[in-house]
Amino acid sequence: KDAILEVKNLKKHFPIKGGIFKRQINSVKAVDGLNFEVKRGETLGLVGESGCGKSTTGKVLLRLLEATEGEVVFEGQNIYDLDKKEMRSLRREMQMIFQDPYASLNPRMTVGEIIGEPLEIHGLASGQEKEKRVRELLDKVGLQPNYANRYPHEFSGGQRQRIGIARALAVNPKIIVCDEPVSALDVSIQAQVINLLEELQEELGLTYIFIAHDLSVVRHISDRVAVMYLGEMAELADKDELYENPKHPYTKALLSAIPVPNPEANKDRILLEGDVPSPINPPSGCSFHTRCPFAKEICKKKTPQFKDTGDGHFYACHLVE
Ligand code: SF4
Ligand code: MG
Repeated sequence: KDAILEVKNLKKHFPIKGGIFKRQINSVKAVDGLNFEVKRGETLGLVGESGCGKSTTGKVLLRLLEATEGEVVFEGQNIYDLDKKEMRSLRREMQMIFQDPYASLNPRMTVGEIIGEPLEIHGLASGQEKEKRVRELLDKVGLQPNYANRYPHEFSGGQRQRIGIARALAVNPKIIVCDEPVSALDVSIQAQVINLLEELQEELGLTYIFIAHDLSVVRHISDRVAVMYLGEMAELADKDELYENPKHPYTKALLSAIPVPNPEANKDRILLEGDVPSPINPPSGCSFHTRCPFAKEICKKKTPQFKDTGDGHFYACHLVE
């Protein structure tokens, strides 16, 4: 598969200002040098503990937040080279759906207005044509077309997420960043929304970047999975390879936290202790060294390279080299 997105040395540092002159005194390194590709038509899962930079990554990938450094090449074009107007028309192709659909839906707008708004903004449809398109979109996400006249508060969490998906789909995007789209939903509803996303991907040829902390949901939906730690990537591989043959101690630790029925699989569990260090002053060398049970002297001094060790299995660790 060809790459729809190439990410090169992508960084997002949020300045921290202080003192009487409000000068920048430090920064939060939320995203700190990412290099990876997203293949056309795949679902790339993005996992890691909260605070590791997943959501910020999703936003800088779509330029909903400006990156501090680096490139995001979408179909051969670095989106950070585009001016505002060019970016606006490209925004159509790159959409995002959020964890809390209620917060992203305007409570004073009807569902029809919410889904129809992007059609108006991008000049794709108006009037009756727009209304027809809204009804089609509602039908596509499994909602009744006559729901267009109702307001968001009249719907359940799962239905609201469907409305959010319909709104994202309105502009015929190629790539959708799904930021924890089912985390706030009941387990039974989660499966329905995941199934819907999979059906839509099949039908429309969509590419997904699927951000989540639930590793079993990610395994279900993803083709490949990337593991983030403190704004960097620890490991990336095909999902079965990653779950069955993890290399990076952090990935192993995350997977160890999933209960497994087979006691044999428990024998080399890694218990993750302590919290994620502050992204303001991340640890030197390998940023995982303060929590890694295998850390050696070199880990504190030298940053391990994130590289392909064969068959598209990438990881950054001195130990496994
Ligand atoms: Fe652990 Fe060192 Fe590997 Fe980092 S580089 S994950 S500290 S062994
Ligand atoms: Mg998040």
